[in-house]
Amino acid sequence: MYVTDPTNDSTTNSMAHTKLTVAKFGGTSVADYQAMVRCANIIKNDPATRVVIVSASAGVTNHLVRLSQANIGRDEQRSIIEKISAIQLNIIVNLDNERQLKEQVDVLLNELAEYVISQSEQYNAKTTDAILSYGERMSSLLFTEVLRSLAIKSECFDVRQVMKTNSLYGKAVVDIARLKTKAVELLAPKLSADVIVTQGFIGQDGLEHTTTLGRGGSDYSAALLAEALNADNLAIWTDVVGIFTTDPRITDQAKAIKEISFGEAAEMATFGAKILHPATLIPAMRQNIPVFVGSSKEPEKGGTRIQKKVESNPTYRSIALRREQTLVTVKSPAMLHANGFLVKVFDILAKHELSVDLITTSEISVALTFDNPPNSTQSLITTAVVAELEQLCEVSVEHGLSLVAVIGNDLYTAKGIGGTIFKKINEFNIRMICHGASSNNLCFLVPEADVNNVVEQLHSSLFD
Ligand code: ASP
Ligand code: MG
Repeated sequence: MYVTDPTNDSTTNSMAHTKLTVAKFGGTSVADYQAMVRCANIIKNDPATRVVIVSASAGVTNHLVRLSQANIGRDEQRSIIEKISAIQLNIIVNLDNERQLKEQVDVLLNELAEYVISQSEQYNAKTTDAILSYGERMSSLLFTEVLRSLAIKSECFDVRQVMKTNSLYGKAVVDIARLKTKAVELLAPKLSADVIVTQGFIGQDGLEHTTTLGRGGSDYSAALLAEALNADNLAIWTDVVGIFTTDPRITDQAKAIKEISFGEAAEMATFGAKILHPATLIPAMRQNIPVFVGSSKEPEKGGTRIQKKVESNPTYRSIALRREQTLVTVKSPAMLHANGFLVKVFDILAKHELSVDLITTSEISVALTFDNPPNSTQSLITTAVVAELEQLCEVSVEHGLSLVAVIGNDLYTAKGIGGTIFKKINEFNIRMICHGASSNNLCFLVPEADVNNVVEQLHSSLFD
């Protein structure tokens, strides 16, 4: 049953007069049977949750990544498939229709094993996506059964019917208009009868090949589905009780944030708070859908609410950090008083689908940073990119840097922030500073070895 909401008078919405929450459960939330039951109870307690997006059970995608790599022998292939199978079987043994489910999972795993063997001579981004999709396909199947075992009527839905993408394997771009049309046609009519469980992260291109949206992409899938279905809320259930003032593993002084604006949260997600996939807030902001982030382990502890308007807008909200940044400096005397140099640099980057994070320029050089996340399936700044840039200018590539982002409000009109931020971390080398493009952040790079100290000291000066 939907929850009737007399205040919702949207007429364009096929689900008018009903409240809809789209909920996403991450890998640790569906890691095993007990974890899945906790999620099922969250759904049971909130009748508005009718669409559920799941990640692969924790660890499975990493196993699949290994399986999709060329340098892997038959023995390792077999042992990885066994490990994946064990994770699923641990869940299945707790369910009533154990035999039937085991058969279904075996069908998928056999198909996967055959695929891996048949493709092993020609691994590429496309085969990787096909391989990675099995994690979400299995977890969604099993989670549907867990819901049923708690007497929640549910159906497992193949998201590839609606999540239509281009063919940029590994980071496919979703066709939002088609997703909307398909979701209204195929998903919306089902919601009154069943809780729909579906896969995050995966999609399908025009040739009906499986694609993925990039590591951690399930959050983004959920946000896109919330947007397509005109949902009232998006709930991201993970293993932390919301967003913190900084990574709690760095300082035990980190505090949970109750409420944060879209703008601040988007900067946080972009600049390293690992809680949300960076693109997640884009659909939510477009459609003004409030986002809740909480822990499926401790739902009673509440979480963080991300929305357009918040009660307080402090100058300093949080400190995000991102490790393994690559700093590329391009230098050309020809840039002096010249125009068009940046266009040429960015043309090359665009051609290689590279997205730049920070940028600073001086008279004859430009410094650019790129994220090189530990889980990424490909290395970003390839020798081909460097070679092309070198045709234009001198290029230097530095690794071993971390990006620290101070997130807050009105940072470019607030007085004294330079002193406040940098006084406390005076003893450290600051490699690059970016300030002035967004009122919500000030970013800088420090050596990887210093970043924990920098963040800890900065946190104590800004938040204690
Ligand atoms: N299972 C995928 C990953 O581990 C997607 C996700 O969990 O969001 O990256
Ligand atoms: Mg995640």
